Amino acid sequence: MITLALSKGRIFDETLPLLAAAGIEVLEDPETSRKLILATNQPGVRVVLVRATDVPTYVEYGGADLGVTGRDTLIEHGGQGLYQPLDLKIAQCRMSVAVPSDFDYASAVRQGSRLKVATKYTTIAREFFASKGVHVDLIKLYGSMELAPLTGLADAIVDLVSTGKTLQANNLVEVERIMDISSRLVVNQAALKLKQAAIRPILDAFSNAIEKNAVPS
Ligand code: ATP
Ligand code: MG
Repeated sequence: MITLALSKGRIFDETLPLLAAAGIEVLEDPETSRKLILATNQPGVRVVLVRATDVPTYVEYGGADLGVTGRDTLIEHGGQGLYQPLDLKIAQCRMSVAVPSDFDYASAVRQGSRLKVATKYTTIAREFFASKGVHVDLIKLYGSMELAPLTGLADAIVDLVSTGKTLQANNLVEVERIMDISSRLVVNQAALKLKQAAIRPILDAFSNAIEKNAVPS
């Protein structure tokens, strides 16, 4: 049995076409079913639904053989024990620094002020500001980062941005782009060896499907 860990929402939805390319069809809709283990049309393949931040952990410890997870989540997890064969180019967005529109970020950085930064992504934020030589106090949050600067909890946030609409609606502006984000396939290292025959065709089908979708540059 091959177990694939996915999170509900955008990652699940955008992984479905890749699974279809591998001849795998999920037989239940996670938005209407309460099940956490979903059968597929292939008796040897099942999908488990886990929280986005738990996907690397499930795959690391073999609770799942494969998983799909954002580059952001993977960096925060550390990636230990995970083989990362493919960038699936799905769930694309970017990690950015944003501040209230009336906050002079450039001056604060130039003057060497200590910035209060709220984020769920403390590893990425710490490394980014350290590389710039900017002193920061990091405040770990688990949701609604946008609220932090509006309430005086922080000067800035580090968060994922796609359209920028959420920032705009909360009077925040993007002042730095830290990195581009997309989701990757992760594979348990032992499973890759022991279940080669079942996993290899899935990897190949995903890889072909990504190439076909690629926008020629
Ligand atoms: P939870 O909803 O359980 O708290 P989460 O908010 O981290 O978890 P999602 O919002 O579903 O989970 O995001 C999962 C992944 O999708 C992220 O790790 C990121 O890689 C990607 N992602 C998040 N926001 C966006 C976005 N606006 N556009 C594209 N991809 C995104
Ligand atoms: Mg979410």
